[in-house]
Amino acid sequence: MADEEDPDVPILPDLYKPPALLPIAQLKDQLLYTIETYPVTIVVGATGSGKTTQIPKFCLDAGWCADGKQIAVTQPRRIAATSVAARVAEELGTLLGQRVGYSIRFEDVTSANTQVKFLTDGLLLREMLVDPLLNRYSVIMVDEAHERSLSSDILLSLLKKVLRKRDDLRVVVSSATLEAERFLNFFAPDEGEKVHGKSKEEYGRIVGIQGRTYPVEIQYIIEPTNNYVEAAVDAIMNIHTSESDGDILVFLTGREEIDDTIDLLGDRIADMSSKQQKLLTLPLYAGLPTDAQMFVFQKAPTNTRKVILSTNIAEASVTIDDIVYVIDSGYVKLRTYDARLGIETLNVLPVSQASATQRAGRAGRTRPGKCFRLYTEETYKSLEEATFPEIQRSNLAPVILQLLNLGITNVVRFDYLSPPPSSLITRALDLLYSLGALDIHARLTKPLGTRMAELPLPPQLARTLLSSCAPQFSCVNEMLSICAMLTLQSPVFVAHDGSKAALEAARRRFSVRQGDHLTLYNVFQAFVSSGASVLFCRENALNHKSLVRAVSVRKQLAAYLSRFGVDVSATAVCGPEVLAAGGVPLPERICRCLATGLFAHAARMKGEDGSFVTVDGKTVLWAHPSSVFFHRKAEWVVYTEMLETKGKIYIRDLSSVEMDWLVEYAPEVYRVREGKR
Ligand code: ADP
Ligand code: MG
Repeated sequence: MADEEDPDVPILPDLYKPPALLPIAQLKDQLLYTIETYPVTIVVGATGSGKTTQIPKFCLDAGWCADGKQIAVTQPRRIAATSVAARVAEELGTLLGQRVGYSIRFEDVTSANTQVKFLTDGLLLREMLVDPLLNRYSVIMVDEAHERSLSSDILLSLLKKVLRKRDDLRVVVSSATLEAERFLNFFAPDEGEKVHGKSKEEYGRIVGIQGRTYPVEIQYIIEPTNNYVEAAVDAIMNIHTSESDGDILVFLTGREEIDDTIDLLGDRIADMSSKQQKLLTLPLYAGLPTDAQMFVFQKAPTNTRKVILSTNIAEASVTIDDIVYVIDSGYVKLRTYDARLGIETLNVLPVSQASATQRAGRAGRTRPGKCFRLYTEETYKSLEEATFPEIQRSNLAPVILQLLNLGITNVVRFDYLSPPPSSLITRALDLLYSLGALDIHARLTKPLGTRMAELPLPPQLARTLLSSCAPQFSCVNEMLSICAMLTLQSPVFVAHDGSKAALEAARRRFSVRQGDHLTLYNVFQAFVSSGASVLFCRENALNHKSLVRAVSVRKQLAAYLSRFGVDVSATAVCGPEVLAAGGVPLPERICRCLATGLFAHAARMKGEDGSFVTVDGKTVLWAHPSSVFFHRKAEWVVYTEMLETKGKIYIRDLSSVEMDWLVEYAPEVYRVREGKR
């Protein structure tokens, strides 16, 4: 009977390689034994071997959810969490959000039935605020731990603490490189000590998965190029015309660059003869809508070669089959923190050798491949060996706020995997203090500090939103919309028909002299007034999906405020013409309110060309072309975000403020002695 085919068993659509063929399949028993026996299991294996998609399923099979507990799998990136969850749901034949779900900031696709939950590492940290021992989970897998993202590093430290209290919890750490020993030693009790009766040797094991990989031939360019986008386009066309079949994966740094490359390629494709094999270009970056992400994983139609243009997401987090050619720009966009300026920027930086090797390896998954590096061999040799852990190059204010709220009072002596430089900790404490989140003893203030920690916003925006409830600003309704708009990952304005002119015209229609924040507010209001109309968005070059998302985020933020006891609905929505709150008009109250949170991000306009300087006068900043102040004049502005591209620092989301306000709301920072005003 058992051998006969059961007609009632649905035949699974032939959408994917049976997981039984994945290298990890042979290790199922060994993995489950290790997870059962030891608190900590470190899994080392080539990308694509099946760690992320199969380990949670193994645990599910073995009954780790039998008592109603869940399995959590954390990812450093949202896009990885959502796409892998979709994949595992499909493999298990369930709807996403049922047995398998995901949870990322402002988007929870889980239900009471969810047993396997993919989430970002940052979100699991947040869950600890309400469930400090993470009791709802029986197994927690920290995926891509070798990437050393800020949140995953902190998460590992906290899980180590949790394991000291819970001997039923199992932690699985997955890593593509050989940082395994380091992770194992980090969790293990000290020599001679025991945790729950287990000594260092009995605490954990490393399980290695032999991946099948094929040789990858590496080619460098001979002459260095200063335009890797053009070089990438040339390389793609060369592969397409002179190399055999096989899809291409191109590593670039960001969305705009990827879109530009696709535009450039479009022109070249138009020139191709119709007899030639077709070329299908697909983008892959964070913030791409889920359905668009899925195209990337689908097989190319017949007589078509797929070209995927990706950020470093495809380096390890997600695996795309059938890639034979990799083109590596040699660059990556990383968040770095300039402790001197006290500002965080997104910089385009050379990759590390470890990243370059990882990228090349993506070409040899199904058969021998080729990797074209758009840099010289000398350049490769000069690269850093490995990427610095994020914790050593980040603005630590957000995590320190989280740690303090979790009751970890000594953030200097915290058990970090790699301790950050003390200057970064000091900077973070200073910033949190100036925002009013800490008192002079570096304790969280109540309720301001704890509320800031609870809000799922960066500390500066959290402060801004909380200020808006104060009577002198009375603009909580507006600020909720502004904050919601600022959390969007994709641009609000999009050219539906590819016309940049239409996009600019639409932008101008909503823009106001006070700046980008109020402009965003206008967009949000107009969208809501239109009844969330798709047509309205088409006519105004607006991104409908993003705006729908903003509405949802706004609701969630409002729910936090209600929990804090702020009656959001009672605050009348008044038009800008209405004078209230001491006779100060609404737009000014909003700009003042922004200054209470963003004061550390102030700049003064320098020239007519959209240039600004920092408060100390030492650094030149440029208004992002999307800003109202790209064309208009201002004196002082505060801004939300900063990004560096090719040596130029751009600031985004600017609003006009007055120096007096900065002095009033942040006297410590603007060091004005009494009487000087
Ligand atoms: P690892 O975590 O070890 O890098 P994964 O579990 O992510 O490996 O991937 C295992 C295999 O599952 C891949 O080789 C690929 O064939 C397939 N796969 C993973 N994600 C997807 C997806 N979203 N769509 C289609 N196939 C996928
Ligand atoms: Mg993986």
